[in-house]
Formats: sequence, structure tokens, C-alpha cells
Amino acid sequence: MILQKPVSDQCVITLRFGKYPLWLTELFGLTWHDGIDFAPLPQFANLRQRIFAAHPGMILTTGYNLSAGIFLTQQCKTESGIILIDYFHLAKRLVKQYQLVDYGTTIAEMGNTGHSTGKHLHFRVRVKKLGFWRAIDPANSFSHTPATFPLPTPAFPRLSTA
Ligand SMILES: [Zn+2]
Repeated sequence: MILQKPVSDQCVITLRFGKYPLWLTELFGLTWHDGIDFAPLPQFANLRQRIFAAHPGMILTTGYNLSAGIFLTQQCKTESGIILIDYFHLAKRLVKQYQLVDYGTTIAEMGNTGHSTGKHLHFRVRVKKLGFWRAIDPANSFSHTPATFPLPTPAFPRLSTA
């Protein structure tokens, strides 16, 4: 599976997949981050940020809930089976359910809906293992390694809190 970065170069990774940093655990009681957070660098924070499909596939679900905010779920066929890609905390959806998208198709605008501490994208990739959808770390599947901002601090929190 080869993924393309779902955001422009104005955005960087603010939180990686895996264990939360200690301050987030202490502040929000969080333990495991099941995706990657992308947010605009401070100088681009007031600009609209488009979100691009990270893989060809079909928009399976469009919805809203308190945790994810406005979200999209995309279903993709890969050489290693079906995967699901979730895009959370959107400001606006720009595609419809069952729409087919390609690499780089603009699918949404980045937002701050749901459990989120600032405008960012929570990007999650799931694969089916033993009958269950499990989140995996997508970091090594990108064609170009996205830039990572130095570890987020309470002064620059652009990440998911649920
Ligand atoms: Zn997140």
C-alpha cells in the first residue's frame, strides 16, 4: 500500500501514532493515539487547508459524531486487502457517499469539529485482522515522509483528544 500525504506542505505531523506524550495522558487521560495528526504550521493556521485522498478508493461513510466531529471514511482495495481510511475533525466535506476518488482528490476542508484542540486532521488507517478492524501506523506507507513538527506542547496543541 502506498499512501499520499493528505495535506499540503503547509501542514506537518503534530502527533504520531502510538503512545500519547505524558502531558496529554495527564491532561486528558489519554493512552493510545490510533492515527496521525496533521496541522498547519502557525503561520498558515488561518488559511483554509484542503484535505486530499491518500489512496484511490470509494467514500464509504460520511457522518458526524461528538468524538470524530465531521468525518469521512474511505474504503480502498490494496494488494494486501481492503483498508479503511478515516479523516476526522473536518470543517466541510467536499465529496458524497459512494463517490470514487483518486490520489490527491480534494475531499474535505480541515476543521476543528469533535474532540479536538485546534484545526487539524486525525488520519487513521485500518486493516482487518482476525475479523476486526484494527488501526495501524500508516507512517511508513507514505510515498514521501511527511515533516514532523517538534513534539506538540500545550502551547501548540493541534490534536485529537479522543
Ligand atoms: Zn489524532
